[in-house]
Amino acid sequence: MGHAIRDLAGEVGIVLDFATKTYDLAIVGAGIIGLAHAYAAARRGKRVVVIDRDPRANGASIRNFGFITVTGQERGHSWSLARATRDTWAEIAPQAGIALAQKGLIVTLRRPESMAVAEAFLDTEMGEGCACFGASAFRDRYGEIAAPDALGALVSPHEVRVESRTALPKLAAWLTAVHGVTLLTDTAAYAVAPPRIETSRGPLRAEAAIVCPGDDFVTLFADRIAAYRPQKCRLSMLRLASPGFRLPAPVMSDLSLVRYAGYAALPEAQALRRRLEAEQAAHLANGVHLIVVQSEDGSLVVGDSHHYGDVPPPFAPAEAEACILDEFVRATGLQPPPVTERWVGIYASAEGRTYFIDAPYSDVRLVMVTSGTGASTGFGIAERTVADLFGSSTGALS
Ligand SMILES: Cc1cc2nc3c(=O)[nH]c(=O)nc-3n(C[C@H](O)[C@H](O)[C@H](O)COP(=O)(O)OP(=O)(O)OC[C@H]3O[C@@H](n4cnc5c(N)ncnc54)[C@H](O)[C@@H]3O)c2cc1C
Repeated sequence: MGHAIRDLAGEVGIVLDFATKTYDLAIVGAGIIGLAHAYAAARRGKRVVVIDRDPRANGASIRNFGFITVTGQERGHSWSLARATRDTWAEIAPQAGIALAQKGLIVTLRRPESMAVAEAFLDTEMGEGCACFGASAFRDRYGEIAAPDALGALVSPHEVRVESRTALPKLAAWLTAVHGVTLLTDTAAYAVAPPRIETSRGPLRAEAAIVCPGDDFVTLFADRIAAYRPQKCRLSMLRLASPGFRLPAPVMSDLSLVRYAGYAALPEAQALRRRLEAEQAAHLANGVHLIVVQSEDGSLVVGDSHHYGDVPPPFAPAEAEACILDEFVRATGLQPPPVTERWVGIYASAEGRTYFIDAPYSDVRLVMVTSGTGASTGFGIAERTVADLFGSSTGALS
C-alpha cells in the first residue's frame, strides 16, 4: 500500500511501494550533502530516492553563507575537494536556475602579522591566482571596505557564492525534474539495511544507501557515528540592511587567518594568534571570525561565532553578536546597517577531521562533514563516495 506525498518542490510526489518499485540508491538527508550525492549518482544513470524528515531543507545547508570557499581550506585534500566542488556549482547553477551571487574573496588585513600570513600563503601552491595588496593599492581598488588602519588585503578569485535558502530548493527541484531523482519529504528513515529501508511511511526498496544526516547523530548508525566523537557546533548569524553599495567580493578579516586551516597551519599564523589572544580575546573565546557576503537585494549576511557541545543551547549569547559586529566595523571601517534578521545554525564537528565516509555495510555509506565546509566540499566528497560505492562509471557495486 503506498502513500501520496509532497516532494521538495512542493508537488504531489510518488507512491511508496516496496513490492514493485526498486531504487538503485536511497539517500537519507536532503541537505547539500544528500543532494550532492543524489547528483553524483543520478548523473551515472542511477535511480535515486532522497528521504528527508522535513518538508524542505531547513538545516545547516540553508542557514549558511552559501560561500563556496577555496582559499583558506585545509591544504591538500580539502583544498582539492573545494576546487572540484566550486567547479560543479559553476557548471550546474545556471542549469538549475541558481544565480552565482558573488565571486572571489577579499581578506582585509590590519596587522603586520596578518600580512606575513598572507604573504606566506601566496608562496604555497594554494596562492596560485591570488594576490596580496599593500595599503595604498588596497585603498585604490577597494576603498569602500578599507578600514583606516588597513595594511592591505589578500584577494582570491576562486570563490563563488549562492543564496542557500533559495538555492537548495532550486537544486532539489532540478534534480527531480531533470535527473529523475525522487524526493520523499516529511518522512523519517529509521533503519537502513539494503534492500530494505524502513521509513515512517513504510518500507522502501533500494540496492544501496548513503546516509547524510547532518547533525543527527542518533537516528541511524549511532554507534558508528559515536566512534568519530562528533560534537555539535552552534553559529550565530545576522542579516544587515544594504549598506547602499555592492561589495566587490565576500569579505573576511584577520580573525579568519587563525580559524581557516589553509592559513592557520602556516608557521606564520602562530605570531598572529598570540597577538589576537592579547587584543581580541573575547572574539576568540566566542569562536568569532568575520564573513560578510551580499545578497541580490543588497543586504549583507554577516557572521559568525562557534560554540561547541553535545546539545548546543538555543540561547545565543549577545556577546557573540557584539563581537561579530565589532569585527565588522574594525575590518571594513563601515558602521553596521540595521540588523534585519538573526538566526543560529548547527553543524557536526569532529576534532582534526574535516569529514568522514564510513561503511557500516558494503552497500551503505555514512557521510558527515565535520568542519563546517559542506557547501564548499560536498560535490567533491559525493564523487568519491559514489565512485567507491558503484565504481567510477559502470554501476556495479564494489
Ligand atoms: C551558520 C552556518 C554557516 C555556514 N557557512 C558555510 C559556508 O558559507 N560555506 C560552507 O561550505 N559551509 C558552511 N557551513 C557548513 C555547511 O552548511 C554544512 O557543512 C552543510 O550544510 C552540511 O550539510 P548536510 O547535508 O550534511 O546537513 P543538513 O543541511 O543539516 O541536512 C541534513 C538533513 O538530513 C535530514 N535527516 C537526518 N537524519 C534523517 C533521518 N533519519 N530521516 C530523514 N531525514 C533525516 C535532516 O532533516 C536534514 O534535512 C555553515 C554552517 C552553518 C550552520
